[in-house]
Amino acid sequence: MTAPERIDITSLLTARTHLVGGEWVAARGGGTIDVLNPATQELLLPVPRGGADDIADAVRAAAAAFPRWRDTSPAVRAELLYRWAELAGRYEHELDVLESMEVGRPHWGPSPLRRMLMFIAGQVDKVSGRSLPTHDSDDIALTLREPYGVVGSIVPWNAPAPMFVNDVAPAIGAGNTIVVKPAEDAPLAALLLARLAMEAGIPPGVVNVVTGYGAEAGAALPAHRRVRRMSFTGSPPTGAEVMAACARNLTPLHLELGGKSPQVVLRDADLQRAVPAMIRSITLNTGQVCAAGSRVVVDRSRYDEVVRALTDGFAKVRVGRWHENVDMGPLINARQEARVLEYLEIGRKEGATLLTGGRKLTGPEFEHGFFVEPTIFGDVEPGMRIAQEEIFGPVLSVIPVDGEEQALDVANGTDYGLAASVWTADVGRAARLAKRIEAGQVAVNTSGSFGVIGAPFGGYKNSGYGRTMGADAVREYTQVKTVTISGAERP
Ligand code: NAD
Repeated sequence: MTAPERIDITSLLTARTHLVGGEWVAARGGGTIDVLNPATQELLLPVPRGGADDIADAVRAAAAAFPRWRDTSPAVRAELLYRWAELAGRYEHELDVLESMEVGRPHWGPSPLRRMLMFIAGQVDKVSGRSLPTHDSDDIALTLREPYGVVGSIVPWNAPAPMFVNDVAPAIGAGNTIVVKPAEDAPLAALLLARLAMEAGIPPGVVNVVTGYGAEAGAALPAHRRVRRMSFTGSPPTGAEVMAACARNLTPLHLELGGKSPQVVLRDADLQRAVPAMIRSITLNTGQVCAAGSRVVVDRSRYDEVVRALTDGFAKVRVGRWHENVDMGPLINARQEARVLEYLEIGRKEGATLLTGGRKLTGPEFEHGFFVEPTIFGDVEPGMRIAQEEIFGPVLSVIPVDGEEQALDVANGTDYGLAASVWTADVGRAARLAKRIEAGQVAVNTSGSFGVIGAPFGGYKNSGYGRTMGADAVREYTQVKTVTISGAERP
């Protein structure tokens, strides 16, 4: 894959401004946050350091825009989303490079954004209620699907553009207005998507973006009483804080949290297919993917073979800066690097076998970035911390098991339940495991559901609840009202 060319960010975005009520404005407090390229520490763009006042402004603007947007024909709302999709297609290169620069990831194939927006736009004018039977034959009763009002959305830095679309498109498609707080490390693609939404003709105040830190702008959003529904994508501890804030206001919440996804390799697995997919699953975006297949749960009869093939494959993973022809970039920031290095130490102390990697990368091309070696631990016990906790880095734990039942126990033996893969040639085993694995997505002989159109995404257990991107994505941003019309002539 050829490396993408650089772009001039200032031709796309105005420094130090975010979007409130259709205006590009500075933070009320005047502060800014420098968004840096994690491979080089070069300054990409300063963005506003928004806080509670900015969130209050944005919620006010969203509330003011709501009645008119709610009453806009769904056909018109759909058309505006289609226009937004067209613009996302026209700016595909810019959006992709912007996200690569702020996240530090190499180009990862065609951008999904235009298609995601088209898929959601197609649902907008098809959300409907039902007519209901009544005891009295003169009455009519029906349900209406209505938007909530102002929706709040907090998104992480690892895939900022798809996360933004996942929340914004269905929410506004359903007639809500929205305030988004992107991650402080990577808010630029979200700001460009918001600009394109405005250019598509989506009215001012319908989409608002307030940049800032989690403890400031982030915490203020679920705490705001006029936010009628929240969506949070990020880590479980922050998810719990957002949930507590929502509980105080009795605000309904959708949570997309972390994972420790198993890749189950049974004794009849085709390793030619499984191994490259497993390597990509944990090195893509430097392992900073919620659904990363971070545990290989392998039948002991294939353990040596799997470990050899994985180690050979890891030796070929090219690490470097986003615009070079590489497979893997740096981690997002110093905190994330420290976290990953700490887990490498924990793995050693727990007695796992370090098969490859295990260190910070050094050398002139790595010295300004947060680069760590792609790492494999073998002989991992299911209860070890490296097998239980989300590392969010390129660290694979290989756990040997004896047979299908134990594979299932280990696959299900964490608090998480986001995604899973099963590699087997036996259709019966595939069916049994697909039904018994506790995860929002199970893929057989492939590493995920990315090739599926409209696969609902979300977790079981501590990976969260609620689903995005499915056929009901827009409907899920509505609430139900029952209307009864009495036709009786006398009481
Ligand atoms: P994080 O929880 O640290 O931050 C996520 C967002 O929350 C950021 O915008 C941050 O500014 C904000 N935030 C931080 N503290 C806050 C607070 N007190 N109140 C309100 N908002 C606050 O997570 P992260 O490190 O940015 O992202 C990595 C995590 O996200 C991983 O656990 C990963 O698995 C998860 N994730 C899940 C999905 C999914 O769809 N399930 C997708 C991507 C990432």
